[in-house]
Amino acid sequence: MFSSHADMASSLLHISPSCGRWLRGSSLGSGSFGNVSLGLSLDDGLLFAVKSAPASPAAQALSLQNEFHILHALHSPRIVRCLGASLTALDDTPCFSIFLEYMEEGTIADLVKKSGGRLEEGRARECTRAILEGLCYLHKQGVVHCDIKGQNILLGSRGEIKIADFGSARKVSSRENSESCSMRGTPLWMAPEVVQGVEQGTPSDIWSLGCTLVEMLQGRPPWGSIQDHTSPNDLASLLFRIAYTNEGPSLVECLFSAEARDFLSKCLERDPKKRWTAEQLLRHPFVMLKEEGLCSLYRSQVSPRSALDFFMDSDLESESSGSIKSFAYATKLYCTKVATDNEATVREDCGSRWFSVRCTACWSEDRQKPFFRTEKEVIVKKGNQVSLESLGFLARRMRPVVG
Ligand code: ATP
Ligand code: MG
Repeated sequence: MFSSHADMASSLLHISPSCGRWLRGSSLGSGSFGNVSLGLSLDDGLLFAVKSAPASPAAQALSLQNEFHILHALHSPRIVRCLGASLTALDDTPCFSIFLEYMEEGTIADLVKKSGGRLEEGRARECTRAILEGLCYLHKQGVVHCDIKGQNILLGSRGEIKIADFGSARKVSSRENSESCSMRGTPLWMAPEVVQGVEQGTPSDIWSLGCTLVEMLQGRPPWGSIQDHTSPNDLASLLFRIAYTNEGPSLVECLFSAEARDFLSKCLERDPKKRWTAEQLLRHPFVMLKEEGLCSLYRSQVSPRSALDFFMDSDLESESSGSIKSFAYATKLYCTKVATDNEATVREDCGSRWFSVRCTACWSEDRQKPFFRTEKEVIVKKGNQVSLESLGFLARRMRPVVG
């Protein structure tokens, strides 16, 4: 598709906002299409995720480009936000990168592992509802995600649940017939019609949602995990079972309430025409949350955009005492010298560098940003003091790589 990196760069010029100077931090994960790492903007302290794929061979970069083209047009609190795209370098190799909002709590698959191998049903309901809301939005936009699974649902530190990884997604336009496209996704989460190679439309995402619910409640997708199907023959016979038999997935009955089982039966309906839509499923009792549940789900939809968003709740008790407490707390553990009530030198335990955190009462016009970083200092506007967590976070993550 691109004969040279220059071609690729020029194709990006009209869609890529400048990302300014930034540092690449530690790895957040990797998958079939690329490597994801943490990024820190040196201009405004913004933390973001950078998903990169080598520019050559083209297949991976093209998948990432597809992701960018679909994602940058989507705007929903249930979809991970795309901040831009650019040509960058990773270990001196030219690569295509997209910049995404950072979701610091990892994936639903991570959560299942951390929670002892399965989620309790209340939490699984919340997650299912959030994914459904995201799918409802996507399907209204004519987008099929094609790879819904626990590993592609991200969690934020304030309870946000968002659909990510649009590398396999596609737009189903009236001109494009879903039957004419190649099938995409992860085999164990694929709908029968996808495995058969017949079609991959919005109902296929609903089947994968059902598999994701089983993954949450049972700790592994229906049909067992990939480790249970190590030989190509095993996998082939499993795919045959999914595609051509009337067999249902084996469920550990006691882990599913009657409501959960009924919800699953609507998702794992073999005939895509009879399968419920995202809109219908949103009215199913399994995801109709009680008032209390809704509160916890919607209490905090705001995703942190910078290190400054890592306030501890207790820091925000009251504006004045809260901010002093935050500053005092930070100074207690990190300070080497307190100059005044509003200024301190704070050690960053990262190589031999030292940083100051200065809380200025009078903020000059030219320093309007709440977070300001010079070569040796992190300066924070009063009222936006960096919390202990933020300092620790910066100290752990900063690693200069790319200017
Ligand atoms: P797959 O193997 O599903 O095809 P992929 O190569 O398309 O994966 P992603 O699923 O987008 O890549 O990302 C891989 C992993 O990186 C995720 O499972 C997650 O752990 C991490 N990750 C991705 N995006 C973010 C983000 N915005 N914030 C935090 N972590 C992220
Ligand atoms: Mg993925």
